[in-house]
Amino acid sequence: MSATVSDILGVLEAWAPAATAQSYDNVGLQVGRRGADVTRAVVALDMTPDVLEEAEEMGAELIVTHHPLLFKGVKQLTGGPLVPELALRLAESRIALVSAHTNLDAARGGVNFELAGRLGLKNVTFLTGMDGALRKVVVFVPEEDARRVHSAMADAGAGRIGAYEACAFQAPGSGFFRAGAGTNPAVGSSGDHLEQVAEVRLEMEVPSWLVPDVVRAMKAAHPYEEVAHDIYVLDRESRTAGLGAVGELAAPEPLEAFLDRVCTALGTEAVRYAGSDDMSIQRVAVCGGSGSSFLPAARAAGAEAYVTSDVTYHTWFDLLRGDGSLPMAMIDPGHYESERCTEDLLVERLTDAFPDVTWHVTTTRTSPVKNWIGSRYLQRT
Ligand SMILES: [Zn+2]
Repeated sequence: MSATVSDILGVLEAWAPAATAQSYDNVGLQVGRRGADVTRAVVALDMTPDVLEEAEEMGAELIVTHHPLLFKGVKQLTGGPLVPELALRLAESRIALVSAHTNLDAARGGVNFELAGRLGLKNVTFLTGMDGALRKVVVFVPEEDARRVHSAMADAGAGRIGAYEACAFQAPGSGFFRAGAGTNPAVGSSGDHLEQVAEVRLEMEVPSWLVPDVVRAMKAAHPYEEVAHDIYVLDRESRTAGLGAVGELAAPEPLEAFLDRVCTALGTEAVRYAGSDDMSIQRVAVCGGSGSSFLPAARAAGAEAYVTSDVTYHTWFDLLRGDGSLPMAMIDPGHYESERCTEDLLVERLTDAFPDVTWHVTTTRTSPVKNWIGSRYLQRT
């Protein structure tokens, strides 16, 4: 049994909602038709000519990448430069392309949780939550119907706070209405009089992207023809989605051992780092890809090491105290190396959801960047 591109987008949306992607990003269906059937798919960190050839050879109808192919404006699909060339060839080969990028970075169990797991971290949480993503949905409902409305809202995703589900608050009060001609009120009666009925105020936290689903479920379970409800923006960060991750090794280890751990876990022979030999590492923050901007968050989280990539020369100086000493270590294994685990992560999740589709991790190294260890240095070791 096959799946459609749309089915696969639905599973990715439930896990890593597009609304949690950064504003500059472009995630979701990049090339192809939602209704197309998928029996075989290739998963890769990046879209490259090698990945396309691999997909063509195995007869795949879909490629799923972490990094979007279409990111900046493409004006012509005429071939030649890498991006329009690949987009054109995908269309010609009838292969769809889906990307899960910063939305997958922000997902619980996404890129950063996977990276943390590879490094052996336990008790992993988000390094920072997500601003502007929380809403409070408040509804007024007769007390005898409150549990049903509450359940419906919880089933649609309202009231998840950390590991707690169905979190809600309710308080009793009075609702007033005058039911005009043609109405059929569930409680009280229509006419010119002002009706007063006992209601409860039921309120639940909801991530912004789930508000339409929650309101729909709430209205379906509510006995009233017209459902009075409020939606507030909360000035507090969401922990349903977040950025970076932080956790602990089972036991502290010397910096050298931790550097080896990073190399082994990420399959790289070299990393760039700043740190001193006497450092002991247990609490570790990570951010796959370009995470320099979360260096202050890593320090605030009490990390003894921060693993991220694309660290610029001057960012290394941001790490230093006034006396030149280092309060923590920072390790840059490379962008590809820090996120390559995303390929396995996606295949694992998508195989669970669509066991009848053949999911194939690319056998190619999609990054054009390699490390060269000078031969005289190799001989010395
Ligand atoms: Zn990346």
